Amino acid sequence: MSARFTAQRISTVTVLGAGTMGHGIAHVAALAGHDVRLYDISQEAADGGRSKIAASLDKGVSLGKVEAGVRDAALARITATGDLAAACTGADLVVEAVPEKIELKRELFAAVDRAAPPDALYATNTSSLPVAKIAGAVADPSRLIGMHFFNPVHLMKLLEVVRHGASDDSAVAAAVALGERWGKTAIVVKDSPGFASSRLGLALGLEAIRMVEEGVASAADIDTAMKLGYGHPMGPLELTDLVGLDVRLGIADYLSDAIGPAFEPPELLRRKVADGKLGKKSGEGFYTWVDGKRA
Ligand code: NAD
Repeated sequence: MSARFTAQRISTVTVLGAGTMGHGIAHVAALAGHDVRLYDISQEAADGGRSKIAASLDKGVSLGKVEAGVRDAALARITATGDLAAACTGADLVVEAVPEKIELKRELFAAVDRAAPPDALYATNTSSLPVAKIAGAVADPSRLIGMHFFNPVHLMKLLEVVRHGASDDSAVAAAVALGERWGKTAIVVKDSPGFASSRLGLALGLEAIRMVEEGVASAADIDTAMKLGYGHPMGPLELTDLVGLDVRLGIADYLSDAIGPAFEPPELLRRKVADGKLGKKSGEGFYTWVDGKRA
């Protein structure tokens, strides 16, 4: 019997959400040769995502990493739209990258299910939410799996594929093969809170914040300890600034409920978020950021 889902049959890729992750996924898919529909809540928001891809590809060209012709061909394959039904028509894969809110993701997939072809594969880029619960929003949950990419998507090599209890084996295998076609190394993990990457990454980040709180060392020195002492390319506090303190707080709140008190968010994290210190995107977190660079 032939597999229900295969990577070879995935030609048109629809990406839902044109923010940090969505535009990155669309970028990588277009470079891999797919026709891409990039959807967001308005045409303007979708166009904004496409412009970010253009800027990133321009940078690649100026650094000599992308040929101008490759950039032009990739951009020509991306259609930005604020129309969900148009975005889903003819899709072979629908990847969701909207904010980390379970009801939002469920409502969106329920709408996708009314518009996408019956044989399209569905994937969520959630960093921590239960994939089975998101899959429960569509008529056939076996076709929805987790495809967790990392930021920035065009540079980060990991793809975490999340299998839940009802996943079709061929959906998991297709996601792994597609990720490898896109230049990623895929790992398959169980649908457990925080999967492998977010759970472990957050544990380190929260402990680093508690150490700043206790005055063990400065943020910069803690980051240096992990970079020079353990070979991490980036320290846990700088990474927290890049991911967004609000994003990390949301995941910590969820994991502390789901796994236990080891993930209880430190007071310092709550205070910074309440003060609007969200990291790179707001200009201040554990470091100060000016024009997207550490001051
Ligand atoms: P983001 O806020 O940068 O982008 C979200 C986008 O979704 C925005 O453009 C927003 O306009 C759009 N959106 C909101 N509601 C929508 C709707 N109903 N329909 C379509 N689009 C809608 O968020 P992000 O950082 O890209 O995160 C997206 C997902 O990826 C989350 O589940 C997050 O946990 C996950 N994730 C984030 C990172 C990261 O480092 N930022 C890494 C891995 C996974």
